[in-house]
Amino acid sequence: MIPAAFDYAAPATVREAVALLRGRAGDARALAGGQSLIPMMRMRLVNPALVVDLGRVRDLAYVREHDQGGLGGHVRSADPPGVRGGLAIGAMTTYRTIETSPLVRERFPLLAEAVARIADPQVRNRGTIGGALAHADPSADLPALMLVAEARIHVAGGGRARSIAAGRFFVDAFTTALGETEIVTEVRLPALPPRTGGAYEKLANRASHFAIVGVAALVTLDAAGACSRVRIGVTGAGPAAGRARRAERYLTGRAPTPAALEAAAARAGHGIDFTDDLHGSAAYREHLTHRLALRALIAAAERAG
Ligand SMILES: Cc1cc2nc3c(=O)[nH]c(=O)nc-3n(C[C@H](O)[C@H](O)[C@H](O)COP(=O)(O)OP(=O)(O)OC[C@H]3O[C@@H](n4cnc5c(N)ncnc54)[C@H](O)[C@@H]3O)c2cc1C
Repeated sequence: MIPAAFDYAAPATVREAVALLRGRAGDARALAGGQSLIPMMRMRLVNPALVVDLGRVRDLAYVREHDQGGLGGHVRSADPPGVRGGLAIGAMTTYRTIETSPLVRERFPLLAEAVARIADPQVRNRGTIGGALAHADPSADLPALMLVAEARIHVAGGGRARSIAAGRFFVDAFTTALGETEIVTEVRLPALPPRTGGAYEKLANRASHFAIVGVAALVTLDAAGACSRVRIGVTGAGPAAGRARRAERYLTGRAPTPAALEAAAARAGHGIDFTDDLHGSAAYREHLTHRLALRALIAAAERAG
């Protein structure tokens, strides 16, 4: 199908991009990798009057260390011993760049691993972190990763620049906390504490590789070998990705024994309004959430040790 006619602009700065979006508020769309927007326009599910291509905006594609790496967001020099700096990833950074970035592999290997399982090389060469988060597909992989990382999503365009915690960003299927004229500019991941292991487990749709259900887990062990910090993010199971807080609370303070991991995983689906569609029934997704959470927790705890 051919999209409806639209105007096209390719600004050079974030300020210009935002001004263009504001000029046609409600009737303009940012274009990043185009892997979701272009198909939607071709199917005429969205028909923006103006497409604002972010591809030429300077300095939106990078992976950098940032100096607010500690868990509390304090300066890196004040981080506890062993905690290394966090990551700042520009919104237009492609999956491929993230997957192959030595800095991501060193600081947040789980992200590089998970991104390598998204879609296919063509999509990974074009799709961007900003586009994926703004699109908020309920089966997308990155939301689960952003939730366990406790990432902050930096945005511009709503009057003043602000940052939104990942936990508040994903509101519903294809719905985020972004304002109509706001764009994602950067994603910040705090440094991980020492003795932290992570894993991402998904049952992928065979054709697209979207997650029917995906579970990300980060487990930090204390000196005695107990779980001092547990983060579990679930995607694909319901309308929006979310944290499995009941499971996190259960495991925190306990040793990661097989029984404790199983009991935590059994709580991972608590509070999810499971999706029932042609890819899987609600009961199947509930089952997957439990089993994938168990696998992710076992692998994360092993890596932490
Ligand atoms: C065949 C295929 C398989 C796929 N498989 C997977 C998979 O396995 N897992 C997975 O997670 N995803 C998958 N995807 C989706 C893919 O990850 C998309 O690339 C991604 O969701 C959108 O990123 P994009 O950069 O292409 O954004 P675009 O398509 O350009 O934009 C998507 C939406 O986000 C908005 N947007 C883009 N950038 C910004 C910004 N900086 N600020 C504000 N709004 C913005 C656009 O206006 C649009 O509404 C697949 C896609 C295809 C085509």
